[in-house]
Amino acid sequence: MEILRSPREIGLMRKAGLLVWEAHQIAGAMVRPGVTTGEIDGALERFFAEHGVVPLFKHVPNSQEGGPPFPAVTCISVNEEVVHGIPGPRKLAEGDIVSIDTGCKLDGWCGDAAATYACGAVRPEVGRLLDVSRDVLQLAIDEMERCRWWSEVAGQMERFVRRHGFSMVEAFVGHGIGRDMHEDPQVPNFTGRRIRRTADFRLMPGLVIAIEPMVNMGRKTVRQLADRWTQVTRDGKPSAHFEHTVAVTAEGPYILTAGPQGETWS
Ligand code: MG
Repeated sequence: MEILRSPREIGLMRKAGLLVWEAHQIAGAMVRPGVTTGEIDGALERFFAEHGVVPLFKHVPNSQEGGPPFPAVTCISVNEEVVHGIPGPRKLAEGDIVSIDTGCKLDGWCGDAAATYACGAVRPEVGRLLDVSRDVLQLAIDEMERCRWWSEVAGQMERFVRRHGFSMVEAFVGHGIGRDMHEDPQVPNFTGRRIRRTADFRLMPGLVIAIEPMVNMGRKTVRQLADRWTQVTRDGKPSAHFEHTVAVTAEGPYILTAGPQGETWS
């Protein structure tokens, strides 16, 4: 079952979340043609080291027998790559979309956030994919205040994406977060057959979850590359990913990975 956090603990998680936001400011500013995904990862590895915090992604074990642990502090997934892309020598090009996911642990508390950045000018349809993906995360955060159960929020997310002609990835879900990056509950971005298999949960003060919709321009299905990490869309069409770590409080949703003034991806 999910763990509820005290206001003091949520305050500590906010400090970790703010560092994740700052890391994203560095990463986002580096997204331009000619920069490699490995250079962006290196910059964030130095940033986390300078702050004496533990990067959450490096050395995460592979879920498949014999698969390699994750080798970097960020997942960087370009264009048709959905999530879990491995940074390396790939040079970004004008028109690419670049999903960057990263997290850190400060004084034993975790923060996790992702955003998809445009590299220069992107096609109008790709720009619309970014807008819808960013907006569906914000919609979820806004609806957390009104809804009692997560499934009500998830249903609205799924319908919003479908209404805009895109599809929600169902192979991956968000997660509870606290002392560890991945805690209960699972946080799906859709309802129906698959959510009944995972448990629905109440939106109670003290709940802290990482909400991370992945939206595909084409069909929802994904496949894994031979590196045993990178997930790509089966149809090769682009995909976008936005994530915030969010606490439910008596005063409403509190975005722990927002900027110092509460700035979000929107
Ligand atoms: Mg996450």
